[in-house]
Amino acid sequence: MTFEELKLAPAILQAVHEQGYNNPTPIQAQAIPAVLAGHDLLAGAQTGTGKTAAFTLPMLHRLAGSAAATSKFGNRGVRALVLTPTRELAAQVEESVRTYGKHLALKSTVIFGGVGMNPQIERMKRGVDILVATPGRLLDLQQQGFMDLSTVEILVLDEADRMLDMGFIHDVKKVLALLPASKQSLLFSATFSDEIRDLAGNLLKNPQSIQV
Ligand code: AMP
Repeated sequence: MTFEELKLAPAILQAVHEQGYNNPTPIQAQAIPAVLAGHDLLAGAQTGTGKTAAFTLPMLHRLAGSAAATSKFGNRGVRALVLTPTRELAAQVEESVRTYGKHLALKSTVIFGGVGMNPQIERMKRGVDILVATPGRLLDLQQQGFMDLSTVEILVLDEADRMLDMGFIHDVKKVLALLPASKQSLLFSATFSDEIRDLAGNLLKNPQSIQV
């Protein structure tokens, strides 16, 4: 299997090859066609399997192929939201979005707690296509009126099990309630408790399940 066979846009293939990747990992080979086809996804994958590219590459492809809606603030609305349990993971994921999306004209930003809000608010005001965030700070900004999530087309819950272990279930549910029903949702988790299955059951519509 090659990345070319996955039919990703040339600008994305170029970035992948610049990273020195020759072949998709097993999670990428399974997840990328499912996401490109528009399916919801329930993916069991540990860190180190290439899971970040498994959701980022098809997400970039889908966003690059269509135009943004306008948010209630009059700028381009957030089109993809990736929720992560920690600021470290949020920063890493956003770095991957930048790397794989460097030949595309999509804007990404990362939002997490423990740092000043004003720079994050300023970046949101300038318009963001892909937002990577931890749930608490995202809700803070939303409650202060700086976040319109009604235009989100793709949602990713990354490391969903850690998100629940860290006590973020209520925050995650509050974020989900702000998103449109029509979105494509991808849930990645290393383990599957009853709580994760409940969350997946409520969120995902006819998901494809993959396990590596
Ligand atoms: P992740 O599981 O997303 O944390 O990725 C683990 C590591 O694998 C990261 O350092 C990626 O840069 C690398 N990686 C992801 N996909 C591939 C690939 N197809 N070929 C080689 N390395 C990869």
